[in-house]
Amino acid sequence: MADFRLSDIDQQILDKVVEVGNSTVQHTRYYEDHEHEFPPAKLEGEVGFEAVFPLFGQRKPDDTPLMTFMMAVSMARGSTNGVVRGLGLGMPNGRAGGLGNAALQSAGTAEQKAKWGNLFLAMSITEPGAGSDTKAIQTTARLEDEEWVINGDKIFVTDGVRADGAIVWATIDKSAGRAGIKSFLVLKDAPGFELVRKEKKLGIRASDTAAYAFRDCRIPRDQMLGDDETVPKGGGSAAYKGVMKTFNMTRPAVASGGVAKALGALNFARDALAAEGVEVDWGRSFNQRSAPEQKLIEMEADTEAAALTVLHAAWLSDTRQPNNLESSVCKAKGGEVCRTIPQAAMDLLGGMSVSHDHLVEKYLRDGRISDIYEGTGQIQRLIIAREILGYSSEELT
Ligand SMILES: Cc1cc2nc3c(=O)[nH]c(=O)nc-3n(C[C@H](O)[C@H](O)[C@H](O)COP(=O)(O)OP(=O)(O)OC[C@H]3O[C@@H](n4cnc5c(N)ncnc54)[C@H](O)[C@@H]3O)c2cc1C
Repeated sequence: MADFRLSDIDQQILDKVVEVGNSTVQHTRYYEDHEHEFPPAKLEGEVGFEAVFPLFGQRKPDDTPLMTFMMAVSMARGSTNGVVRGLGLGMPNGRAGGLGNAALQSAGTAEQKAKWGNLFLAMSITEPGAGSDTKAIQTTARLEDEEWVINGDKIFVTDGVRADGAIVWATIDKSAGRAGIKSFLVLKDAPGFELVRKEKKLGIRASDTAAYAFRDCRIPRDQMLGDDETVPKGGGSAAYKGVMKTFNMTRPAVASGGVAKALGALNFARDALAAEGVEVDWGRSFNQRSAPEQKLIEMEADTEAAALTVLHAAWLSDTRQPNNLESSVCKAKGGEVCRTIPQAAMDLLGGMSVSHDHLVEKYLRDGRISDIYEGTGQIQRLIIAREILGYSSEELT
């Protein structure tokens, strides 16, 4: 049975992670205003993540399963508004990992995982003409003299500036549709690779977002993820399905970011109202509570519900059970509360919520993306409907 209670050591880690996050809050506004400036290795007053790692060493096999626990960590950390060092799905070994690392883990061969596992990898699927509809990508890869030659343009690559390289989707046979789509490891020093620009954004400004161009970009033949060069007739390739499976790992992580912003806004609103003498009195009945109290209760319930969907999707993954449906459910729910809860906090707080004297408005701006990348809320609902009704992606689009 699923049990999301944290063990003692896991609770200690979580508390430490929150301390780490809070220790950089004083610098957050600076890095908001200086969008493309990366923070130094150590900020003034910062309690570094190295304070957390020894505690990880004390975890035992029967502590909270790892991915479930990492989601709890992500939600707690993200709620603090501390300076984010890249969006990487921070890994327990201390090395940040990007979305491309998750793709490598779910679709790479054992050899590829061993060889590239220590790289920081972004994930590059989206193109100017292909976002939600990933099978519409136009980037091509052709084999020439034992090298893949890649041509095309990619946009919105999270961590694309600071990553060592990216897992790039390209088609080796356009006429085959999704069956022709493969993913390739492209390192930054590959000839023909260009980092075109960094995006300026509404929120998550500490996370860099890049655009790439590939002009006869050459990479070694063995840099196709999964090493399967065949193009099956009629339907998706194993490689395509393998990479789509990546989303079952990354969607809970992205959803956790959305829940984190909801949680942060909720905590801020609760504290700000408490400072004005408005606190939820659980002893009073519904009819006797004030409207702000009732609103806080509803916000809390909704945020908690979203957090539970994230933990559930992660727990299924930890226990090696299918979580296609649940990872989309949590992504849809996380994408919802990241918008509605900061909005509700602003409704409660009025003018102070837009002031730069506080960081509450940042939750709204940072959270918004959680309902867009890794599949928008609309796309998640499509996937959920397909899963429940038993339709294929061709039958329900
Ligand atoms: C900051 C940021 C970081 C990103 N990071 C990455 C990354 O690391 N790697 C990567 O590959 N991509 C990344 N993306 C791209 C992101 O995944 C896409 O923006 C997203 O998938 C939506 O695609 P689109 O923007 O082309 O919108 P579109 O697909 O054009 O959709 C526009 C609107 O139409 C809706 N819509 C589309 N199809 C349907 C449908 N069938 N039914 C109902 N509604 C539909 C969508 O929900 C959306 O509201 C990032 C984007 C941003 C903004």
